[in-house]
Amino acid sequence: MSNNEKVGIMGGTFDPIHYGHLVTAETARTNFKLDRVIFTPAGRPPHKKGYAVTSSEDRYLMTMLAINNNPFFEISRMEIERPGLTYTVDTLEKFYNDLGKNVKLYFISGADAVFDILTWKDVDKVLSYCTFIAATRPGYPMEQLNQKLMQIRQIYGHQVVPMKVTSLDISSTEIRRRVKEGLSIKYLLPESVETYIRKSGLYR
Ligand code: ATP
Ligand code: MG
Repeated sequence: MSNNEKVGIMGGTFDPIHYGHLVTAETARTNFKLDRVIFTPAGRPPHKKGYAVTSSEDRYLMTMLAINNNPFFEISRMEIERPGLTYTVDTLEKFYNDLGKNVKLYFISGADAVFDILTWKDVDKVLSYCTFIAATRPGYPMEQLNQKLMQIRQIYGHQVVPMKVTSLDISSTEIRRRVKEGLSIKYLLPESVETYIRKSGLYR
């Protein structure tokens, strides 16, 4: 690998993956000139204890189908294979050690994640391993986001970088709800993922 490679890590539950995730990752790739973006579906997300998260293998396969046609996108089984709850700090530490010193890590997340970052395990460590990117997301205006970023900077002395993303008011929760109610999910996510959901009977 070339020196000073820039690698994006796109974390998420991806239950299911949709165009909001994909456009966010692609925007980060181009804005920050990343060499590649590694999607890392979460194993057992600690903040999603409330509902039964779809099996890791289904979420992994859907993510794989979704990123298939982008040569800069990759997928990692790291989080789904790690036992116990999934913490971003462990993931970044592992990528940091695996990829070597010449690689610069960028963690890509949506604004909503940044609003509860103060509750994350070892936030200061998370912020020291990577450049943390906070993408705008409908419902989280830039002004409010900037205020939060200032607060994080004051507490931790680390900068979280805001990134403007074309607003797509899409969430996995909404897609799951639509499938359950028999409504169309066309154009909210890649057709291959839509087909997978239909054939596997997920979310019904
Ligand atoms: P759920 O409704 O189940 O929480 P979600 O749509 O929020 O699903 P996640 O897997 O929780 O998807 O999100 C993974 C990452 O992608 C998070 O950092 C989240 O903020 C970001 N993200 C999700 N949807 C969008 C979107 N429409 N625009 C920008 N960022 C998004
Ligand atoms: Mg979410």
